[in-house]
Amino acid sequence: MARKRDLDRPEALWKEKDMADGREVDAMVLILRTSGCAWSRSGGCTMCGYNKASDSDVAAENLLAQLEAALERYDGEPFVKIYTSGSFLDEREVPAKVREEVLQGFSAARRLLVESRPGFVDADSLSSMPKGSTVAIGLESSDDEVLRRSVRKGFCTEDYLRAAEAIKEGGLGLRSYLLLKPPYLSERAALEDAKSSVAFASRHGDEVSLNPVNVQRGTVVDRLWRRGDYRPPWLWSLLEVLRSAPEGGARLISSPSGGGTPRGVHNCGSCDAKILESVRDFSFSQDRSLLEGHGCGCRDGWQRYLRDEASLLTSVDVDRHLEDRAAISWRR
Ligand code: SF4
Ligand SMILES: [Zn+2]
Repeated sequence: MARKRDLDRPEALWKEKDMADGREVDAMVLILRTSGCAWSRSGGCTMCGYNKASDSDVAAENLLAQLEAALERYDGEPFVKIYTSGSFLDEREVPAKVREEVLQGFSAARRLLVESRPGFVDADSLSSMPKGSTVAIGLESSDDEVLRRSVRKGFCTEDYLRAAEAIKEGGLGLRSYLLLKPPYLSERAALEDAKSSVAFASRHGDEVSLNPVNVQRGTVVDRLWRRGDYRPPWLWSLLEVLRSAPEGGARLISSPSGGGTPRGVHNCGSCDAKILESVRDFSFSQDRSLLEGHGCGCRDGWQRYLRDEASLLTSVDVDRHLEDRAAISWRR
C-alpha cells in the first residue's frame, strides 16, 4: 500500500519566483514521478542522477492521481513549470491523454514550461501545447564532441536545431539548458565551451539557463569527484561565462543547485554566498553590473588553477570514460 501511495504523489512540488511576460511573478514547480527518461535506461548522461526520481511501475492512472494532488495545491500562479526528470513529450513516459489532462489542468496559467529531449519534439507532440508556452531542452553544449564524449548526451546539435525550428514554428518559446564543466574537460576548456555554447543557444532560443555541474550521487561525475579527479566549476568561471554573453540576445539565467557546497559550483567559502546572490539577482534583472566588482583573494587561486589544470589535462579521455561508465551500477 505504501508503494502505491508513493506512485500517486508527485516527486516534488514547490513555489518560487520567475519571469513571465517580462515581469517577476509567482511560479509553481511540479515534478511528476514518471517511468523515467528513455535515455537514462541506456545509461544516461554522465552528470545525471534523475533516474532515482523515477519508477518503472508508474502508469497513466498514477500520473493522473499526481496531477490531482498537484492541482489541489495550485493557487493560480501565473507560471507553472512541469518537470518529469525526463521528457514530458515522450509518450512512453507521459501518455498523450495524460499530457492533455495536465495541460488542461493548468490552462489558467499565463505561462507553462515543460522539458523534453529533442527526439520527442515535433509538430504532433507540440500540437497540444498552448501558444506562448515554453519547451526547455537540455542542450548542455554546442560542441558535438563534448556532447558525445563528455556528456554522453545521445543527440547532437543538429537534433537540437531541428527541434528549435519546430518549437518556433509552433509559436512556442525555447529555453536551452547548458552545462558549465561537464567531466573530462579542464576548467579552462569548460569555460571556453560554455562561452561558445551560450552564444550559440542565444541565437536559437528565448532563454538560456546556464547550469554549473552539481555532483549528483550515482553518476559518472560522482565517481570522478570521489576519487579526486573532478572539481565542480569555480564561481569565478560562472561569472566570466555570464559576462561573455552577447548583449540583447536571449535572457540568460542561472540558479545553481548545490552552489557554495563541495558538490556544487564554489569558490573559497567566504565569497560564495555574495556571488551566488548576485547571480540570482542578475537572472531576474539581467543587470550586468551585478556580475562586476566582486573581489576575493581566491581569485588568484582560480587563475592558477586554470593555468595548472590545463597543463595536466589537455584532452577528453575516452578510454577512462568508458571504464567509469562500466563501473557504475545504474539503479532502476
Ligand atoms: S540529463 Fe536529461 S536526457 Fe540526460 S539522462 Fe538525465 S533526464 Fe535523461
Ligand atoms: Zn573567495
